[in-house]
Amino acid sequence: MQMHTPTLLLVNILVTAVLGIGLGIVARRSRRDGMVWWAWAMGAQTLTYLLFALRGQISDWLSVVLANTLLVATFALFAEGLCEFQQRPARRWLIWGPVLAMPLLVTLLMNHPQARPQLATLLLSFQSLVLLQLIIARRHATPGGGQYFVVAGLVMIILALLLRFVAALSGQVDLNQVTASHPAHAFSVLMSTLIIVLIAMGLVLMTKEQADVRNHTLAMQDDLTGLSNRRSIQQVLTQQIALARRSQRPLALLLIDIDYFKQINDTHGHLSGDQALRDVAGCLRERLRAQDLVGRWGGEEFIAILPDTDAVGAQALAEDLRAAVAQARFSGVDGQSLKMTISIGLHALELSSGNERDDMIGAADRALYLAKQNGRNRVEEL
Ligand code: GH3
Ligand code: MG
Ligand code: MG
Repeated sequence: MQMHTPTLLLVNILVTAVLGIGLGIVARRSRRDGMVWWAWAMGAQTLTYLLFALRGQISDWLSVVLANTLLVATFALFAEGLCEFQQRPARRWLIWGPVLAMPLLVTLLMNHPQARPQLATLLLSFQSLVLLQLIIARRHATPGGGQYFVVAGLVMIILALLLRFVAALSGQVDLNQVTASHPAHAFSVLMSTLIIVLIAMGLVLMTKEQADVRNHTLAMQDDLTGLSNRRSIQQVLTQQIALARRSQRPLALLLIDIDYFKQINDTHGHLSGDQALRDVAGCLRERLRAQDLVGRWGGEEFIAILPDTDAVGAQALAEDLRAAVAQARFSGVDGQSLKMTISIGLHALELSSGNERDDMIGAADRALYLAKQNGRNRVEEL
């Protein structure tokens, strides 16, 4: 089958332009998820192939020097986007070095047309390896499978470049005849189109998968304190009760309420109240063990789930938390020193009972009410 390279080039240009415009429309600079860079990369790639397609009809400065520079710039923009997506600082010399080197080297080699494309192949291979390393180094921190589409695309680029390099070395192909309908050129443009679609799909998937994870975390987190929110705590408590029953291991629950918190708001203002809530949250998180889960139950109330902890252990832990808050000095946004105390209601799961989540919370709540009635700054158990 004879493939017509100029037609394939046109398809490549259109596909890349559409993908670039699509990414550009959905990209938002404020999101800092790499998408804006990737849209520019697609734009640079579109221009590159447009200039390649016009080789012979426009000046070599445009179709050789500028086109090759734009091609390496495509990879650099892609790498910038990846660093932004991964929230790591970009190593600029590694990313932009080839973009500076390309026009200089291509200009120097203007009278060596056979060496020029080989040089471009080497620089592009280097850039592809840098991109591959960026993704593989963070593969565990990147959620989902979209990244493997990108890895596959990069591996295909490296293999295609290698093939071109060897074919040119053996003298079978003249890499400067980019629009010639030689099977090697047609194959190269076709591969490039497929790879771009694969990589664009991977990047969009990566962004979606990361956004899904972030949204899930946000849905499970309390905005003010960063602790687990009520919904998350309810889910964990249900699981922990089932686990405790199955393994016949103890489980305890603490409901914690700041005493006279309204006075803090009234005296120091709502912002100081918010700061006080964050500080108490930090104090609780610091003192609980890694296996415990502390969350904000609502307002100035917190809840702690203590797996593998019986009533005696939970009493000791609750007393420790109460004393820690009572002894701590907090400060409001006005710099004034605040003193706070907490009351704690404790309930340990009775394995023989049929108590469920809401029964446990109800019992801890009644114990908390008792602690308030008995004078506050104390722990009560029911
Ligand atoms: P008690 O010792 O009986 O628990 O008294 P209290 O003042 O702590 O309890 P009360 O229920 O009367 O008041 C709780 C206060 O907590 C009232 C509400 O304005 C404040 N509050 C609830 N959520 C927030 C918040 O997110 N930020 C701030 N600053 N205050 C909050
Ligand atoms: Mg309260
Ligand atoms: Mg209170």
